[in-house]
Amino acid sequence: MARSTLACPNCQGRRSRTLNSRSQPDRVNRRRECADCSARFSTVEMVVVVRGSRSGQNMTSEEVALRQAKTKLAALRSALRYVLEDDPEEEPT
Ligand SMILES: [Zn+2]
Repeated sequence: MARSTLACPNCQGRRSRTLNSRSQPDRVNRRRECADCSARFSTVEMVVVVRGSRSGQNMTSEEVALRQAKTKLAALRSALRYVLEDDPEEEPT
């Protein structure tokens, strides 16, 4: 049964089922269908690792924050690429 998941971008419904799931080394892409409005959307599940720098002791809190932001941005870019360009419906593999 569909468990609570990310809200549907169309109706904000919390029930959806997985149509397609693709595991990659650094993430899992899922194509989902809303149980309420049948809208289809993608989710990307990934680990975001923020490593402390070897010279972390010498970094200011601003530098640490910048490093973390860059790491998150890289993860988001990867996710967005999947959602926009790697849709299994448009481009079956
Ligand atoms: Zn919906």
